[in-house]
Amino acid sequence: MKKTHLSEDELQDLRANLEAERDSLDEELAEHGQSNNGDWQGGSGELRGEEADPTDAADKIEELVTNVPLVEELETRRKEIEAALKKMDDGTYGICEKCGEPIPVDRLEANPAAKTCITHV
Ligand SMILES: [Zn+2]
Repeated sequence: MKKTHLSEDELQDLRANLEAERDSLDEELAEHGQSNNGDWQGGSGELRGEEADPTDAADKIEELVTNVPLVEELETRRKEIEAALKKMDDGTYGICEKCGEPIPVDRLEANPAAKTCITHV
C-alpha cells in the first residue's frame, strides 16, 4: 500500500466530496433521461423508442438534443470521479498522472477529481 502525501483526514474529506458529487451527478443524469442501469461506462445513451403522438415526440427530441452536451459533460465528470475514487482504493490518489508528483491539497480541495498537478493541467 503506497502512502500518499495526504493525511487520512484529508483523504476522508476528499472522498466524501467525491461521493457527494457523484450522487448529485447520478440524480442529474437520471433527471435528463439516461437509462439508469448503473452502466455509465457504456456511454451509448440510446434514446428510448417510445410510441407517442408526433407533437409529443418532437418535444422529446428537442429536449434530448438540447440535453446531449450536458449529459455528456455529466458523464465525463462522473467518470473522472469514479477514476479518482478508484485511485483512492489503489493508494495512488493525488499523484499527477504526467509527472508522478503529489498534487497540492488545495488543488484537490478545489477539484477532488484532479488527475494532474498545476503544471500539467
Ligand atoms: Zn505534473
